[in-house]
Amino acid sequence: MSTSSSANLLTGKLLFPFIAPPNGGKGTQTQILSQRYNLPTFDMGASFRAIMKEGKDPVLKAELESYMNNGKLVPIETVVKVFKTNFEDLASQHPTSRGFILDGFPRNKEQADALSQLCTEWQAKLAKVIYLHVGMDVVKQRATGRRFCSKNARHVYNVNDTKLAPKVKKLEQNREIWFCDIDGAELIIRPDDESETVEKRLQEYKKETDPLIEYFKGTQQLVEINGEQDPSLVTQAIEAEIQPLLGLSPTS
Ligand SMILES: [Zn+2]
Repeated sequence: MSTSSSANLLTGKLLFPFIAPPNGGKGTQTQILSQRYNLPTFDMGASFRAIMKEGKDPVLKAELESYMNNGKLVPIETVVKVFKTNFEDLASQHPTSRGFILDGFPRNKEQADALSQLCTEWQAKLAKVIYLHVGMDVVKQRATGRRFCSKNARHVYNVNDTKLAPKVKKLEQNREIWFCDIDGAELIIRPDDESETVEKRLQEYKKETDPLIEYFKGTQQLVEINGEQDPSLVTQAIEAEIQPLLGLSPTS
């Protein structure tokens, strides 16, 4: 895609990157806002999966594999290439949208710099960066409390949340075993939700994200939202920020 056509494609569009810790409620919020305001969501993780698992771009896949197989970090140029190609692709599918939500990009300060340059090239505007602030202890509780039904992975519970906890549990050798409300099957913990794994993931998140938050505070683009409150209140708080930018009067 040539520079001129991609510039036309994104001229005047508003970009809303979202930052939140794992289990910070980002997926829920982006889904609601995306539909409500016609702001398609660009998902960086999904773009990588499409290349690696679904073979969307074999040349790029080979390039990514050459780094990963050697235990090397994917260089910023390649990450930006993945972002640019896939985001322009999404933009071309939604020519009438006012803007886009960015999920998973930028992830660090280097990527934020790259995005700023791309915005100049596209004549797009990085409108606001929505940061869902959720304390590390809360995030950890959310993650480690998650239980999946052993019969149907769509039956998801959280034993640390009274609203989402299953009704039946049994104590066996000092270990709590929970059962699915729907079919009575035993509930299991996914390896990703084991305490040490969660801890490690959160440490990595903090290390990358803290400087990114500072960066966007410095550019006055950061909007910090209390992500620990009820999800509907989180939505309202974000709406109050983005509605004026979209030329809408805020609803209360
Ligand atoms: Zn079940």
